[in-house]
Amino acid sequence: MRRLHRPARMHIASVGVSKVGFLFSLVLCGLLLLLIPALQPTARQVDLPRPRPRVKTSAYTLQHNRGLPAASDSAGGTDRATGLNISSGRSNGTVETERFGTDDYRGTYSDAVSVPEGRGQILPGSRSRDLLQLKDIFIAVKTTRKYHKSRLELLIQTWISQAKEQTYLFSDGEDKELQMRKGVNIINTNCSAAHTRQALCCKMSVEYDKFIESQKKWFCHVDDDNYVILPSLLQLLSSYHHSQDVYLGRPSLDHPIEAAERVKSNGLVSVKFWFATGGAGFCISRGLALKMSPWASLGNFISTAEKIRLPDDCTVGYIIEALLEVKLIDTHLFHSHLENLQKLPTDNVLEQVTLSYGGYENRWNVVGIVGGFSLVEDPTRFKTVHCLLYPATDWCPKPKPHNKK
Ligand code: UDP
Ligand code: MN
Repeated sequence: MRRLHRPARMHIASVGVSKVGFLFSLVLCGLLLLLIPALQPTARQVDLPRPRPRVKTSAYTLQHNRGLPAASDSAGGTDRATGLNISSGRSNGTVETERFGTDDYRGTYSDAVSVPEGRGQILPGSRSRDLLQLKDIFIAVKTTRKYHKSRLELLIQTWISQAKEQTYLFSDGEDKELQMRKGVNIINTNCSAAHTRQALCCKMSVEYDKFIESQKKWFCHVDDDNYVILPSLLQLLSSYHHSQDVYLGRPSLDHPIEAAERVKSNGLVSVKFWFATGGAGFCISRGLALKMSPWASLGNFISTAEKIRLPDDCTVGYIIEALLEVKLIDTHLFHSHLENLQKLPTDNVLEQVTLSYGGYENRWNVVGIVGGFSLVEDPTRFKTVHCLLYPATDWCPKPKPHNKK
């Protein structure tokens, strides 16, 4: 009997289970259908390129953060590249030029690395997976025979001592003493020692070729009156990838420069482009440098510069911005002595990428950093900066005994 009832009970039970199962699968399907659109964007986000982040708007005007700023901020002087006067006595803070009128372009900036809106191809944040090392950077220092003692020695003693392998000094004369120095890479470009457009472009041309030969990931150019804060440089470049088109630096003008176009056309049309001032230093990714080759390699740089009749740093900007249509990424972490370096907040000095020094109107234009050296002992402030960065250096003032652990 029991046996007889069992199948009947089982039948009723199996009907119940299949109904529940059917209802359950219906609910499950419904849920899945609802979830599909919700899941879709997440899956797409992985594949799509990162949207260009909006640049944080700050109260700074273009000129201010470009370091050319408001008249009172400017050290005044002549723009090294264009030979145009940078006025320090004007109330509106614009750069006065003889050839080109001022441009009403105004950009906005983020705090760390500033990129004017709509400019710049790649933005910080797309961090490269392989960690960038100092050895991946080629640092070219432009110098001239007469500055070997007065300028180069200080650099060799300070920041170059921390980046000997990757720093190359491009000069214009033989210097047996420097050539013999262990760990100093000095290259005699055989370019003229004059401060002319041709001579400067000749050096840049050799710098470019040596970089390409080096196989390094980044090319950075500085002058012999620049201090390179290596940890900051490494941090900045780590934000980008060397295979992308990256041109980083600081414009010295608050508007694009204009030149007669003689490379693509016959010079009847003019071309406007931004360029990073060589006096503050600039960096170019290997990917972009390779694309510059038709106009920059093996002496082509000199002929390109001749065509637009502008100096070395302008020619770099011309090739990148005008010919390759890659935008300069404007960073206020690079500094030349065209800006008033005293205005740099002392708390932030060590976070900058390059510093400089200069003398204007009998007054030294240097960063206002305080440390183990007086202004007489260290007029450029480079030793002071160096000892704050590398306190263990043998010639740095040692902490007082009570500070010792
Ligand atoms: N320079 C050069 N040849 C010269 C004079 C200067 O190669 O005849 C280099 C110098 O070593 C430095 C850069 O050009 O790296 C800029 O020179 P300087 O700082 O004297 O002038 P600036 O243009 O900054 O006023
Ligand atoms: Mn200089």
